Amino acid sequence: MLDDALPDDIAALKTLAGPDGWSDDPLRLAPKLEEWRGRWKGHTPLLLVPRSTDEVAAIVRHCAAHRIALTPQGGNTGLVGGQIPDGEVLLSLERMRTIREVAPLDDVIVVEAGVTLLAVQEAAAAAGRFFPLSLAAEGSATIGGVVSTNAGGTAVLRYGVMRDLVLGLEAVLPDGSIFHGLKRLRKDNTGYDLKQLLIGAEGTLGVVTAAALKLFPVMRDRAVAMVGLQAPEDSIRLLAEAKTQSGGGVEAFELISRAGIDFALKNMADHRDPLSDIHPWYVLIEIASSEPGGAGAALERLLTSALETDLIQDAALAQTEAQAKALWKLREDQSAAQKPEGVTWKHDVSVPVSRVPTFLSRATAAVEAFSPGVRVVAFGHVGDGNIHYDVLQSLNGDRGALGAAHAALRDQGSQIVHDIVGELGGSISAEHGLGVMKTAEALRYKQPEAVALMRAVRLAFDPHRILNPRVLF
Ligand SMILES: Cc1cc2nc3c(=O)[nH]c(=O)nc-3n(C[C@H](O)[C@H](O)[C@H](O)COP(=O)(O)OP(=O)(O)OC[C@H]3O[C@@H](n4cnc5c(N)ncnc54)[C@H](O)[C@@H]3O)c2cc1C
Repeated sequence: MLDDALPDDIAALKTLAGPDGWSDDPLRLAPKLEEWRGRWKGHTPLLLVPRSTDEVAAIVRHCAAHRIALTPQGGNTGLVGGQIPDGEVLLSLERMRTIREVAPLDDVIVVEAGVTLLAVQEAAAAAGRFFPLSLAAEGSATIGGVVSTNAGGTAVLRYGVMRDLVLGLEAVLPDGSIFHGLKRLRKDNTGYDLKQLLIGAEGTLGVVTAAALKLFPVMRDRAVAMVGLQAPEDSIRLLAEAKTQSGGGVEAFELISRAGIDFALKNMADHRDPLSDIHPWYVLIEIASSEPGGAGAALERLLTSALETDLIQDAALAQTEAQAKALWKLREDQSAAQKPEGVTWKHDVSVPVSRVPTFLSRATAAVEAFSPGVRVVAFGHVGDGNIHYDVLQSLNGDRGALGAAHAALRDQGSQIVHDIVGELGGSISAEHGLGVMKTAEALRYKQPEAVALMRAVRLAFDPHRILNPRVLF
């Protein structure tokens, strides 16, 4: 059983964190107690902001001994609520921001958990290397959070998810001991790979304090295009063509529906229609090559043959860096552009790539039958089979009442979508994790034996369940 933190515990934790290592000031706490979509608001008796792994260890050791629950937090950009405390002590890694080492010869960067994803990309670039993981929240998302959610993003097609990019981890385990796994080996077959358990554990098995990450050569040439097409089926065929034509150089392949383009044009500043005609679907393609001119040539070849065979109806190839950025911004603004449209049922699902079109048509028919008038906006990493499938409230009637009615149907509507995902052999959380939002829902789809094993693993790490007790099984 977890106890509430008592006044003596609070005093002890303040002492362990040092005079500038804690806060209970409501103004300082406020931005850390609400996630960016405003769906979760939390509360905590105390914010702790340790500066070092040893300080984290001392804090966790005290919490384990006194059965005090902790919620680790990085940049607070998580989308499933796992970083928002509900009475737990909040442990922010925001002051652990040292880039410990950049080692180009090993193709490794070693950073502390509070370093932002953007800062890692910039440090790698300054050393003439490339760190590929990229997502729209990268200016705030931290390495501790990105590791703990096993984040994906837009370059998974070529470089994999965070799990594929971590060589070593340092973490404070739930008993307060330190896991010194900050190795930088590409090969290490010495038993269970414990760092892989911590990756994607959403803060339940340990507090990540540092990571050794893989670096890659900088690609000298990048080419970006937006294409218009008739149907998602065509995007899957185009993806296969793009992989072949570029020799594996496709870095991003992002599907956007026309509804998503319309919302970006209507609700966000500085966007223009990417193509002169309107198309039901769009794909943003980025190809990269180590050869000067190689990416542009591959993309031009692809677009020419796809236009000739009617696989696509139109294409805009970015001619400048600014044009490429504008095309990317249309993709990155897809979530934000929906916000003014009212209440949304959001889904972050994956199915085998070839089944994306079936998923889209089946799910859309099902939600439209269930709640006539809803507006579907689907977009995302189609190259990974990962679709952000959003179902917006209808527009026909009083906006506030419709929003409330739509929110009331969220659980049933999401179950309809997730059942179809399950039937197609997919996952109800492709890249955002389960957090507090989807843990109960996941029990419907995960094999009971797998859940039992996950519980046993957690018990072995954290017998008193002090770390993120409300998250995962
Ligand atoms: C606009 C936007 C776009 C996004 N796009 C993508 C995308 O394309 N792909 C994708 O995968 N995600 C995406 N996300 C989700 C989010 O950015 C990622 O989940 C990110 O990895 C979270 O990092 P964070 O530092 O903000 O973690 P937080 O939100 O602070 O925490 C997330 C989880 O990790 C745990 N945690 C945080 N730090 C630690 C630590 N040091 N040790 C142990 N546990 C910890 C928390 O307890 C929580 O469970 C997006 C989010 C936004 C707002």
